[in-house]
Order: sequence, then C-alpha cells, then structure tokens
Amino acid sequence: MLTLENLKTFCAAHDIPAFRAKQIMQAVFQEGAESFSDISTLSAPLKKLLEEKAGAGAPELQISTVKPTAQEVSSDNSTVKILFELPDGATIEGVLMRFNDGRRTVCISSEVGCPLKCKFCASGTLRFKRSLTWEEMADQVMYFSRYLKRQKEELNHVVYMGIGEPFRNYTNLMKSLQTIMDPQYIGLGARKITVSTAGIADKIKQFADEPFQVNLALSLHAPTQELREKIMPIALRFKLPELMEAVDYYIKTTKRRISFEYVMLKGVNDSAECAHQLAKLIKGMLCHVNLIPYNATDIEEMKGSEKQTIREFQDILNEAGIPATTRVSLGQDIAAACGQLANKAQKPVTSAIPSYKNAPLLKKKLLKK
Ligand code: SAH
Repeated sequence: MLTLENLKTFCAAHDIPAFRAKQIMQAVFQEGAESFSDISTLSAPLKKLLEEKAGAGAPELQISTVKPTAQEVSSDNSTVKILFELPDGATIEGVLMRFNDGRRTVCISSEVGCPLKCKFCASGTLRFKRSLTWEEMADQVMYFSRYLKRQKEELNHVVYMGIGEPFRNYTNLMKSLQTIMDPQYIGLGARKITVSTAGIADKIKQFADEPFQVNLALSLHAPTQELREKIMPIALRFKLPELMEAVDYYIKTTKRRISFEYVMLKGVNDSAECAHQLAKLIKGMLCHVNLIPYNATDIEEMKGSEKQTIREFQDILNEAGIPATTRVSLGQDIAAACGQLANKAQKPVTSAIPSYKNAPLLKKKLLKK
C-alpha cells in the first residue's frame, strides 16, 4: 500500500525531490488518480519509473490490493456493485449507494465468503475461504472514493455490511478503520462509519473500549433465543443473555446509541408477538431499530414480510417508545442490496462511469457546510 513514508524512501533512492511523495499521495487519495500515469503533474520519465516498479510488484508502490473486474449499475444509476479480485484470485463485492438526500454510502466486504450461514442471507451460500487483510478492506473504500472524486462527488459514509463477519477479523478490521480515518488517505470521520456484526459478544465489548466513535449495528433479527438460533447459527455460540449483556456494556461504556438490525421475514419473525417481545427485550436501551425489508435471494424458504406487516411491526415498537425506522434499500435490480451479495456480477468494468442525476444537489449541500 502507498504510504507517505514509503514514497519518501522511494524518492530518496531514485534522486527524486521529496515533495513528489506528498504530491503522489494527494493525487491518488484526494484527487482520484487511478494510476501513476494519471497524475498530470508528474514528468513522463517519473511516471514511467513508478509504473515500471509498481508493475514489477514493488509492494510499497501498489495503489490497490483489490482489482475491479466486473460491475453492475442499477437502472437509475444510483447503485454500483463492483466485483473485486484479490491478489490470490479470490473475489468479493463492494457496493456504492447514492441516496437522494446526498449520502454517498459504500458497503464493503470483510471476508471471502461467509462462514456464519444465516438462513436468509445469500452471502452465506458462498463457500468461506478466508478473512480479508486490512488493505483489502481499506482499498475497497479507497476505490469507491476515487470513483466518486472523479465525478466531483464525495464519499461520506462507509458500512461494513457486505460479505462476511467483520468481528471475526478484529485486528484487520481495526487497522482498516484507522486507515480510512487517516487524513493521509480519505480522513473519514468515525461517526460516518458503521460496523455491523451478527453478534460476537466478546468483540462487541472490545469494540466498546476502542478510543474512537465508529458506530455499531447488531443484526438481532429475533427477540428470543429460540427463534434466533433457528435463523442464525451464530446464536448457538453467543446466546441472547450474553449478547444483551455485551450491548449493555457497549452503551454504558460509549454512551452511544446502538442500532439493532431486524430483517423482516414473512411468517418467521414478523408477528405482532415478536414486535412486543422485541420491545420488551430492548426497552429503555439507548438504541434504534432498523427494520430491513427482505431483499430477494435464491433461498426458496425465505420470503419478505408484506409492507403492511412491516408498518404494523414498526408501530408497535414506536408505541412502546422505541425509535424504529424501515431501511430504504437500493440496488435490488442488480442484487446489490443487503444480503444479496454473492459474487454474481457479470459485466466488465468500463471506464465510462455513469454519473448520477442528483450529484449537483450533493455538491450544493457540501458547499453550504
Ligand atoms: N455479518 C454482519 C455484516 C453482514 S450482513 C452482520 O451479520 O451484521 C449485513 C446485514 O444484512 C445484516 O443485518 C444481515 O442480516 C442483513 N441481511 C442478510 N440477508 C439479507 C436479505 N436477504 N435482505 C435484507 N437484509 C439481509
């Protein structure tokens, strides 16, 4: 991965003025250059030298460890799903969502395949291969950041909600977070980042003790141990009382709100009784419930709840004094929504990046701030 230090050492070794190191960092991470040849302020011989050394595999000159090999763009251009190839040939997916309110959110993967096998999630049908390195996680974010910069847009949210369980890979997760928050790279604010876990209780506590304000979301999906373990095998390892104790610890320690994710599955966890049980379980906690309409997968047994059912479920929670909203999902038409990531993107990546109709709106908003 490129670092200022590495580039300075490179410059010194090749008799290149040191200021070039900063210029290269700036061009790649702040201006969206995809390669050294893209950097117009560098001389032709320097571009050639950098390209040659990087092409020969010099690790300190690699702009990215993830290579986009296929892409899908939703019909309204709001959502772009990229299939990335990793150095060992494994593939993962990342998604960019451009919301009407100006949010530019990137959803990234943390593992190649997912071993957790939640009964409703397409990523669980992929064979688990390995966890990602911190560079592979951070580079997905940087890729989309560059992509947006070239369209004069700014990435402003990152969610670790793609393929995999981020808390199974805690050390690399932390390093990737530190990297994307580092002003040398994209300097994203901690509050603009959310890590989602299926419920690794001990890691929730460890995360609470971290000295930053990255948000936490917990995929709860059921209000009782009995139901939860039917749809999420991880619940057998971390039982509901232990999980809720970890959540309590998180809230007490950080004094920050936790988000509970709850995917609405028809006839499984969407009854009024479930809503009342959920309200009872989390009443009084500093929290927010995010109801997720189920996104279609190839998993035959799972169907999404009716809109009306979701509304009634939300009403029960709201009436019990629990803040609950229903998530707006983008990218269903290209299987890029929550739980649909399964490495199926087919089209080659083109250099013609589609722009989005609401981009000017975002620019205005950013200027006002
Ligand atoms: N392993 C982490 C992060 C990845 S999943 C976790 O479990 O939180 C991100 C979110 O999408 C989770 O809440 C997951 O349960 C949800 N999800 C999975 N399949 C889905 C589907 N088909 N429709 C909607 N949400 C889904």
